[in-house]
Amino acid sequence: MAYDEKTITEILEKIVDVPDEEPPVVPRKWEPATPAFRAILLEEWLSTSPGLLGTAELFSQHGHRSLTEISQLASFDHIEGLSEKQKALLHTKVADTVKFHRFLFKYSQEDKYGLVMFDQDNTAVAMHSGGVLRRSMLETYCKKTCEEFVTIVLLLLDRDERIAVGSFTDRLYYTMDYSINEYIAGVDLTSAFLAWCFSQRLDPEVAIVSSERGTAAQAITDKIYICGLYPALWANQRPDTWKARLPNNKTTHMRRALADAGILGKKKGLLFDDSKGNMKTDENFYAFRTDGNVGFRLSDFTDEQRGFKFAG
Ligand SMILES: [Mg+2]
Repeated sequence: MAYDEKTITEILEKIVDVPDEEPPVVPRKWEPATPAFRAILLEEWLSTSPGLLGTAELFSQHGHRSLTEISQLASFDHIEGLSEKQKALLHTKVADTVKFHRFLFKYSQEDKYGLVMFDQDNTAVAMHSGGVLRRSMLETYCKKTCEEFVTIVLLLLDRDERIAVGSFTDRLYYTMDYSINEYIAGVDLTSAFLAWCFSQRLDPEVAIVSSERGTAAQAITDKIYICGLYPALWANQRPDTWKARLPNNKTTHMRRALADAGILGKKKGLLFDDSKGNMKTDENFYAFRTDGNVGFRLSDFTDEQRGFKFAG
């Protein structure tokens, strides 16, 4: 359904700070991780995941060695109660993590990219929100967040990498038949699932998805640039000004993230996304395909079958 221009403007002014000529964006500052923030991450890392503990130690101690050597070192014999199957799984995860680090390190060394953006639905979360979600479904949705997405985001933030989540979810849904009391969309939805999954890492007993988030989890969430924008909605509401301006892929999201980081025109971004259509774009990013059935995995970066779409 379409609203008249005056009504839309009034509603939008209440919801987001909308510039006349640009899509809405929630400003976030890029800040390097503070020592306190690193300490939180390290503590969380060491206390909750033996697989990551092994990787962290090995990588810092033996980073110059080959992947095979590092994988062999990661035998996990010091961890009690692990079955052979669990050890094999951890072994694989270590290998993936090390590979991921090596590729990222190589690319950052070569000045290839400025930030890493993750698609939300079917990538960061192994479920599709449809862009706007009933609040009663929020917990179910959050619980589908991919473990390896959370892992790599924490690792990347610890390296002072810039992280973004770009999605077709949009607060503009609230101006339609989706009341803010019943539905959640846009930056609200993205912030909610991010803060929830970091809360879970810091305290697995946390079961809430709304306002009662830990400050540590919120601090991590605040490090992530969120761009929730659905071009079709903007075109629908303002066909005269928006139709031709917002391509139906992730170009706008990436441009906004790069611009906000002050690096537009200087560096590209890396995009992980399950949708081929979102990768059809120009010079702004390299894209990696994730498997929408399972969401993001570390191997998405290095799997040659699904790896680089835009190299060089
Ligand atoms: Mg997706």
